[in-house]
Amino acid sequence: MIIICKPEVTEQSPEVTQILRAVSAFDGVSARVHTERGQTRSVLEIHLIGNTAAVPTDAFDDLPGVQNVVRVSDRYRLIGRHRGQIQSTGFEYNGLTFDQASFHVFAGLCAVDTREHTELMMRALAECGVTTTRMGAYKPRTSPYDFQGHGRECLPYVFELAGRYGIRVIAMEVTHEQQIHEVRRALEQSGNATGVMLQIGTRNAQNFELLKVVGQQTEFPVLYKRGMGITLEESFNACEYIASEGNRRIVFCLRGVKTNLGDPHRNFVDVAHVPVVKRLTRLPVCFDPSHSIGRKELAPDGLTDIAHVSAMAVIAGANVLLVDFHPAPEKALCDGPQALLAAELERYLDDVMTVREAYEKRRKAAV
Ligand code: PEP
Ligand code: MN
Repeated sequence: MIIICKPEVTEQSPEVTQILRAVSAFDGVSARVHTERGQTRSVLEIHLIGNTAAVPTDAFDDLPGVQNVVRVSDRYRLIGRHRGQIQSTGFEYNGLTFDQASFHVFAGLCAVDTREHTELMMRALAECGVTTTRMGAYKPRTSPYDFQGHGRECLPYVFELAGRYGIRVIAMEVTHEQQIHEVRRALEQSGNATGVMLQIGTRNAQNFELLKVVGQQTEFPVLYKRGMGITLEESFNACEYIASEGNRRIVFCLRGVKTNLGDPHRNFVDVAHVPVVKRLTRLPVCFDPSHSIGRKELAPDGLTDIAHVSAMAVIAGANVLLVDFHPAPEKALCDGPQALLAAELERYLDDVMTVREAYEKRRKAAV
């Protein structure tokens, strides 16, 4: 059960004390107070946890400061959008806003391989005015004999170059708690030259211990990728582990699901879930066209399948695109076949922005 407070109520308001006193009358029920920060205003919510089935909503309906009381059957209560919750969860990080209205393209290397490629990529981004990128340092690979990423060795030059080329946020996958400490240390040593969004890869989508760890720290936001072989609902529940541990700065990323029915694509593209995630959760939604499609192939109209699904995600309202680029894909140590050429970045962005404008037009026409 969630008690949504009136706009003027804050954590310090006497109404909150009164509501908490009313909650304490019910055995086995506890309350967690938290502020939901939206685009234009913040809303205080009091979440009742435990045996709430026996608690009537009208015990709170008429208390001062209460806007409405929502019974949540959904298990992903923090990230979920429940009846009466119109605000989307948004956050600011390193000068950028992430919410269900914003739009960013994280274009970059699937895996950092050389300093030279990293610099060429960052320069291409800077030339296009892009301040968000992806840089894989820790790579979970199907085979133990494949390149596993340079790990902490590459972090000093990645962060230094990011600072030099004006990159504000880097999406970087972590697979273990230790790597978060390595990222933090290297960032500090770079004089906090940039910011990092910790990426949880699809292979760790239900690694609950890792999810708890990224949830317990609040320094870095988290880009959570849906599990490739579980339902959307199961991914939401897993993602809730991050929020329930205290970190609410989450972006939810779609990246396709594994089934032969998606052939010849690497995964079956789940772009139709973009509006679903926006409706069922309050999180900004990311789409990864590169890992969905898995190969750079041209359609007869001259556009790649990757450009086509990027457009599909954007026309459906995606807030972030996470896309693989490389200055020399034939030399890439990971996922070269799906990387777009760094030299193609400008054209890709033009295409995406054409679609984003069309989406904005559709959205305005709908209200
Ligand atoms: C990635 O983005 O580098 C990656 C490995 O993606 P996923 O976890 O979606 O396979
Ligand atoms: Mn990859």
